[in-house]
Amino acid sequence: MKLLEDRIKRDGTVLPGEVLKVDNFLNHQVDPKLMYEIGAEFKRLFEDAGVTRILTVESSGIAPALMAGLQLNVPVVFARKHRSLTLTDNLYTATVYSYTKQVNNDISIDKRFIDSDDKILIIDDFLANGQAVQGMLEICKAAQVKVAGVGVVIEKRFQKGHQMVLDQGIHLEALASIASLDNNQVSFADSETN
Ligand code: 5GP
Repeated sequence: MKLLEDRIKRDGTVLPGEVLKVDNFLNHQVDPKLMYEIGAEFKRLFEDAGVTRILTVESSGIAPALMAGLQLNVPVVFARKHRSLTLTDNLYTATVYSYTKQVNNDISIDKRFIDSDDKILIIDDFLANGQAVQGMLEICKAAQVKVAGVGVVIEKRFQKGHQMVLDQGIHLEALASIASLDNNQVSFADSETN
């Protein structure tokens, strides 16, 4: 997605540890117009996939997931990282290791927000080592629902997540695909992930 790649080139910065900082438009301050276009692109990519619900994880996945849900006209549910007093014990839970924060988080969703006949589209801001997506896939497996695909705003293709998703035969789409962050430079790969 050219608009997104241009924005990454303009506003993204590379931090030590192969982390791309995009907090001025994606995951801290959020650009609503860009996010709207991101939702439209996810619609274009997944509109024939029979999606009934979108699953993401708080907090950075919520903005792109919401825009995709708006475009695809399906509900959006986000897995919570912290157990809320209002969450019952009726939960699907998975443990996720956070790449950027280097801690384990239990993510959970209330069983009321996933139906056995759902076809789930998983959305997240980044795909790096694939832990967050894997956690959401585990939740889908526990709920015995179909997975329509995985859509990420940015994938770091040089890390493990890209191949891990493809190896499971899952339709993967990344709106921007980064081949390397060497020498503090962002190099894009071909965005076609399949
Ligand atoms: P994974 O579970 O695929 O290793 O990492 C996914 C999560 O880690 C994303 O939801 C994102 O919040 C965070 N993350 C991974 N790599 C990066 C990065 O390079 N930059 C930023 N800003 N977040 C990242």
